[in-house]
Amino acid sequence: AKTGGGGDHRFFALEMEEAAQARRALELDLREALTKEQFTLHFQPLVDLRTGRVTTCEALVRWHHPIRGNVPPSVFIPVAEETGLIIALGEWVLNRACVEAARWPKNVKVAVNLSPVQFRERGLALQVVAALAKSSLPAQRLELEVTERLLLEDNEGTLAAMEQLKNLGVSISLDDFGTGYSSLNYLRKYPFHKIKIDQSFTRHLGTESDTHAIVAAVASLGAGLDKIVVAEGIETEEQMKLVASLGCNEGQGYLFGRPMSGEDMRAHLEAANTG
Ligand code: C2E
Ligand code: CA
Ligand code: CA
Ligand code: CA
Repeated sequence: AKTGGGGDHRFFALEMEEAAQARRALELDLREALTKEQFTLHFQPLVDLRTGRVTTCEALVRWHHPIRGNVPPSVFIPVAEETGLIIALGEWVLNRACVEAARWPKNVKVAVNLSPVQFRERGLALQVVAALAKSSLPAQRLELEVTERLLLEDNEGTLAAMEQLKNLGVSISLDDFGTGYSSLNYLRKYPFHKIKIDQSFTRHLGTESDTHAIVAAVASLGAGLDKIVVAEGIETEEQMKLVASLGCNEGQGYLFGRPMSGEDMRAHLEAANTG
């Protein structure tokens, strides 16, 4: 940028202004989306690698905007977090997920992603209690997924909120393990039931022996700490066999099923999980 003189700076400033405008437009559309019922939930199975049965289905939010089309969560979740809209959206997701799961076979749980912003909100436990009550879903069938990003702040409020949720009978999973600032201390301090190894590890399993060693180490760590270890992003039979041999308990990924509607999931579960 230095060589072109002032022109480059002006160009850059214009680009920044355009980016800011685009973001404001997205924010406005996002505000409307909740009232106009543009969100839906999809569900993706987590499978027990020993038995092949679906243990859990993860709820993944989808936004279909009439003009933008499908906007990926990686684009709108950060904006929803910055604007606080994630509180209302997260509550909607929680309620929808519980209602849907109540129609599935009773041995299948539902997992809901929680943003750190929702955790900071004091009403979270009440939202969970209300969602369970409205749907008649037993607390034991609800899992909440949090990422290491939440634990970075490492405040007592987070731990207290988790304990409160755990006391309700809800279980908590550590999502995307290995991508953030993973600390072994987190596994000791917080009451996690599951550890989900991020899909970037699964992707590099065949080509990097280091990745191999990491997945094996996390699996044995999980076993020692009495936690369920999940490998995310399993797309091939080979990856499935490998993570099973390395000691992972569950798998999630396109090999087992792509995210699908709640209705499709119900049919899938009734076909797959009988007997
Ligand atoms: P995540 O929680 O790690 O969810 C898994 C993501 O990986 C999903 O992307 C899923 O579609 C994708 N995926 C699953 N299996 C495979 C596979 O075999 N290969 C590949 N390449 N990808 C796979 P999605 O639905 O686009 O969601 C992206 C992220 O957005 C999620 O990552 C989560 O962090 C966030 N998110 C989604 N729904 C919610 C929600 O309701 N609330 C919050 N707070 N975040 C959400
Ligand atoms: Ca997740
Ligand atoms: Ca994940
Ligand atoms: Ca992820």
